[in-house]
Amino acid sequence: MPRIDQDVKLDFKDVLIRPKRSTLKSRSDVDLNRTYPFRNSKKEYTGVPIMAANMDTVGTFNMANALGKFDMFTCMHKHYTLQDWEQFDKTATDEMYEKIAISGGTGDLERLTEIIHYITRIKYICLDVANGYSEHFIHFVEKVRRHFPEHTIIAGNVVTPEIVEELILKGADIVKVGIGPGSVCTTRVKTGIGYPQLSAVMECADAAHGLGGHIISDGGCTCPGDVAKAFGAGADFVMLGGMLAGHDQSDGELIERNGQKLKEFYGMSSKTAMEKHVGGVAEYRASEGKAVTVPYKGDVVVTCRDILGGVRSTCTYVGASKLKELSKRTTFIRVTQQENRVFSS
Ligand code: 5GP
Repeated sequence: MPRIDQDVKLDFKDVLIRPKRSTLKSRSDVDLNRTYPFRNSKKEYTGVPIMAANMDTVGTFNMANALGKFDMFTCMHKHYTLQDWEQFDKTATDEMYEKIAISGGTGDLERLTEIIHYITRIKYICLDVANGYSEHFIHFVEKVRRHFPEHTIIAGNVVTPEIVEELILKGADIVKVGIGPGSVCTTRVKTGIGYPQLSAVMECADAAHGLGGHIISDGGCTCPGDVAKAFGAGADFVMLGGMLAGHDQSDGELIERNGQKLKEFYGMSSKTAMEKHVGGVAEYRASEGKAVTVPYKGDVVVTCRDILGGVRSTCTYVGASKLKELSKRTTFIRVTQQENRVFSS
């Protein structure tokens, strides 16, 4: 008989963070840098742990250049060729390689091996599939770990603790958490599968940290407050797609419609992505994504400042002088309303 888990699982929209007594004078006192030692690669990360998603329009070299200035991270999309990487490599500094990952799915070992052979400064490998629960994927992570013992491996996506533990034990350093929360994701509608993101992050972070692993909260952030909630829930990194779409640094066509500037943004398993990469990997997320146009937002630098300013402010409200202290000082309260929308259109 099917079982029902009666515990209520929550999303970012279901909670707010309770303010606490604080001795901090200003947001500028808050340090958003974190240092993480990685369990399997034995390497270390120091930086602001917010990432651009490895999506066509967002995980771009231009995005990495801009985000790097804020010490933020970019997971490059998987469609860059060796030639593209060689081009980037000519001008990239060593520091930049501390904040970027190459990405691939289960069919990409050869491509990853070739690029990493030539672009020797690559340190992070992001192994991304729609369904991180398949045994095939778990074996793949094991294999990549054997091939690249010293690279820091990101693997996902999953949403439950037991599989987080398994991926870490098989060689992943950082597990990507999120099934269905994404802004251009249709998995929940197409399949009925998913897990509310805030609860997924809380449960998976606990499991990962118990083993010395790390997690990324991937998908579902719609505003800086959501990013702060993900950190408050215990995420080590927060990955953003939609919030970084529509900028100068994002790929995708700039469209003018009725005097309004728009940019295209699409899911990695949308029809648009499939059509663009014909002959792409068979293991692709079977059309569980959509294509949208988002208002053109100019330079991503402005958006980065807005996000970092928001998270800094969260820290001051709860008395966390460092991002590291945010989750310890977070008490979520369940709410029925996020904001007063009387003047919202
Ligand atoms: P966002 O920040 O836009 O809410 O979520 C970004 C995340 O959505 C990505 O990092 C990725 O995990 C997920 N995603 C991207 N494209 C697709 C897609 O086509 N289908 C699904 N199911 N998820 C996607």
